Amino acid sequence: MNILRLLAIFIVIWLLVRIVRNYRNKVQITASRRNSNNLDTMVECARCGLHIPKQEAIRKGKRYYCSKQHADED
Ligand SMILES: [Zn+2]
Repeated sequence: MNILRLLAIFIVIWLLVRIVRNYRNKVQITASRRNSNNLDTMVECARCGLHIPKQEAIRKGKRYYCSKQHADED
């Protein structure tokens, strides 16, 4: 009886570990996807220091700005 109980507990723990691992993998994949979308596209405004996506930033020489107004002012 004791061996059967131990076996049952072991199976339950093993199943739980599998479920948690699967869940973690899913979370990591979605997190890394989000990061790869944002990481290399964020730039800092040379005037106010605001972080903005590169596609939305206004480039003036080597510098990036959050708005046309800041690009003109600097
Ligand atoms: Zn700015």
